[in-house]
Amino acid sequence: MPEITILGGGREVGRLSVLLETGTEKFILDHGIEVQSFEMPIKPKLPLDAILLSHAQLDHSGYVPGLYKSGYGGNVYGTGVTFDLSSLLLRDSLKIQDRNGIEPMYMAHDIKEMERKKKIVEFGRKEHVGSSVVEVHSSGHVPGSVSFIINSNQKRVMFTGDINFIDTQLMKAAALSYQNIDMLITEATYSHKNHPERTAAEDRLREIAQETIYNNGILLLPTFAVGRTQELLLILHDLGFPIYLDGMGITATEVIMSYPESVRNIERLKKAFGKAHKIAKSSQREAILSKPCIVITTAGMLNGGPIGYYIKRLHKRENCTMVISGFQVEGTVGRKLLDTGRYINEGLDIKPNMKVEQIDFSAHTDHDHLIEFFKKTNPGKIVLVHGDRTPEFAQELKHMGFDAYAPANGDKIKV
Ligand SMILES: [Zn+2]
Repeated sequence: MPEITILGGGREVGRLSVLLETGTEKFILDHGIEVQSFEMPIKPKLPLDAILLSHAQLDHSGYVPGLYKSGYGGNVYGTGVTFDLSSLLLRDSLKIQDRNGIEPMYMAHDIKEMERKKKIVEFGRKEHVGSSVVEVHSSGHVPGSVSFIINSNQKRVMFTGDINFIDTQLMKAAALSYQNIDMLITEATYSHKNHPERTAAEDRLREIAQETIYNNGILLLPTFAVGRTQELLLILHDLGFPIYLDGMGITATEVIMSYPESVRNIERLKKAFGKAHKIAKSSQREAILSKPCIVITTAGMLNGGPIGYYIKRLHKRENCTMVISGFQVEGTVGRKLLDTGRYINEGLDIKPNMKVEQIDFSAHTDHDHLIEFFKKTNPGKIVLVHGDRTPEFAQELKHMGFDAYAPANGDKIKV
């Protein structure tokens, strides 16, 4: 009887990993880290047959090299852009581990081993692993992100990775309906709420950009390198204001542009990126602060990266604004700032005079879309992961007649 074991991401956002034992093959579905604490998933027992990697972000990919370190020698399946972005993010993570004085979780040669063992998947093509057949579907979350359906021993198990069912500036929406799914393992980051209308959020950001710049201020946009950097650029590029890109978002955008089919409209992205100024070295930062502008800089949850510099230089200026647009995990600098109004990081503990606003541009689906997805797909079992309010949501789904589960890490469920 096929069975899954939750290795990470049970009743929490981050370090997602699921072991799927089909009876003939053993799959690892993602193997991420908790981005704030670097906590890793439960170690699976070797041997394993394959790792399926849904996308590049570290809460999904962050400990894949760790599996190679512990002796795994098989393949890892993902899209080309996922692998190129993972290489970037994993090497950066290694640097951050070093800077934070953490004993490295893996070595550069483990990342190389992962790169050597990569198997590139494409939409619409089926991958054969032993007697199992793996289908690949676009998940609409970030460039390269996919959902997998594993067909094995007459069962169909779907793993969404992170999924989004609306079109964004950058990505086309994922499909809502899949056939004959026995078990659906889905992310549930926003199972507790609905996102605001996308166009309203975009209008609000443009409005803030205009107000800030007319007040001679600077709009700071700390954000994730993969996905959100490009999304914000696409929303703001045609306002005609100078936009500066700083940090890993620059290289990430270049990688994404080398896979034109991974985004909704490559020409718009090329145009927006072409017009933006790139900060190549830290010595260039000071000069841009003398005039009003928009700065999109890497550091999704404010913990590290160039954003620290900009906050130090601009926090006293009332005519500047910082917009936080991503999910802020508990315990991060960004979460604390939103909860308490204080920026506590790198020896600073300040209450910024600049305006701080949160706008929801999530690339994760929300409560109502998840329910629509479940109704259209009608899976035999629903397993909720990658969310910190999954038990409540499972209850709600049970009342609607679904066979829903909110497992904790270590729990096993029969398919
Ligand atoms: Zn995620």
